[in-house]
Amino acid sequence: MAVKYNGVRESRPNRFNDGFGSGKELAEKFKGGCLKRADRSFSQGLQCQEINGMQAVVSIEDSVLIAHAPQGCTGCVSMMADGYKVGQIHRHVEHVKNPRIFVTNLDQKSVVFGGEQRLRDTVKKAVERYNPKLVFIFTSCASGIIGDDIDAISESLRSEYPDQVIVPIHCEGFKSKVCASGFDATFQAINKYILKGEKADKQNNLVNLFAPTTISYRDQLEMERMLGLLGLEVNYVPFYSNYEKIKRIPAAAASTAICKVFADEFMLELEQDYGIPFSHTVMPIGLRNTDKWFMGIAKLVGKEEEAQKIIDAEHKRIEPLVDEIRSKLEGKRIFICGGTGRSFAAAALVSDFGMELVGLQTPTYDADAQIDIEYLNERQKDYVVDIANMEPFEQANLLRKLKPDCFLGVPTSAHKLGIPTTHVLDGKRPTLGYDGLIYLGNKMIDQLSNPGFNRNLAAHTKLPYKDSWYEQDAFKFITANV
Ligand code: SF4
Repeated sequence: MAVKYNGVRESRPNRFNDGFGSGKELAEKFKGGCLKRADRSFSQGLQCQEINGMQAVVSIEDSVLIAHAPQGCTGCVSMMADGYKVGQIHRHVEHVKNPRIFVTNLDQKSVVFGGEQRLRDTVKKAVERYNPKLVFIFTSCASGIIGDDIDAISESLRSEYPDQVIVPIHCEGFKSKVCASGFDATFQAINKYILKGEKADKQNNLVNLFAPTTISYRDQLEMERMLGLLGLEVNYVPFYSNYEKIKRIPAAAASTAICKVFADEFMLELEQDYGIPFSHTVMPIGLRNTDKWFMGIAKLVGKEEEAQKIIDAEHKRIEPLVDEIRSKLEGKRIFICGGTGRSFAAAALVSDFGMELVGLQTPTYDADAQIDIEYLNERQKDYVVDIANMEPFEQANLLRKLKPDCFLGVPTSAHKLGIPTTHVLDGKRPTLGYDGLIYLGNKMIDQLSNPGFNRNLAAHTKLPYKDSWYEQDAFKFITANV
């Protein structure tokens, strides 16, 4: 019998979450099977999987999220609240809400005597206040270490609150250094406690489109428009969805995801449990990737010819605009940092604009990344790859040495070093599909011609690094090197 995936990304073979090398070096080593797992003897900060788990469901209507954790574990909630509220405004929601997030506030006493009562009290408060359909309970390092049995507690809460679906999610931060494991933990719980293996009547033109929170509303509309051109109805989940849309997942004829990492494991599970085939290609950023992503889903539903016609028409419309952008960006040296799917997709995008990639930070390296890096290696000179979940100090060091003209992605340090910076993860602006590529290109031109904000920020900010750090090897803390 096949062993079921345990939700920890590192448990998959050939997945690397620490390391470095040049693009060509990494691709060669991975191909030859001699890329080794590494570690860091010093780490400045990792994104925790609990946050990814919470982010995956934060915008589901009629839900509350309960972190069974000390208060600090919900420190990133302000970021989620910002994205969630902007998302509602873009969707013309009249009364904009905060996300409904509770924390049980585990303290020293709970660590000694157990946190069960705090969890029960919090669920009671959440149900009394909001009467939600869904109650998501997230574990943390603390609740995991003291061994609070959230499955058993949830089971007994189900008889107390029969109108609520209680969904315990095992996402203790210490279980995985890859924050995307939090997506897997959440989807596994959704499958177990909401979908429950129940089969649904199939709808032939229905497609599940899995989207993370960092997708803007304009991007959602663009993806729905493109799939609509193939006559497909989109079940857009879990971002801004609801209980009914989640229950509809098994009725779909096929699944695809906007992000390459977000739901890849879940789509595999849906294929195994409900017979839903899925397309797993790339993130639709840039010309080549948008074509590939679109054709991937078209193949699944047998509409390749129609898709090719649409791609040709879109290219005719978009290519003159890409040429115009290329004339302004060609040769500019760029550094990219993002999630695994997005960083590689963005690197393909800058290749459309004739830009020179000098460095790339990605949280993981695996077989998917290998496909992307081989594509990049054919188009780019060699460049530095830092396999890092955050690690702003390495970004600062690399940027000081590489001196790129601009930066695209998550600027943990770049914006404070005076480098013109464009974000691709803020979920507020278009990034995806054919129109997103033009928006992003123009945004980079804008940043390059108006660098005042970053220059002023650099002039008035002091980063915590000494000159001696910038002189050292950025990867000196990576042990058991690639
Ligand atoms: S769950 Fe653990 S790793 Fe995550 S924020 Fe809390 S203490 Fe940190």
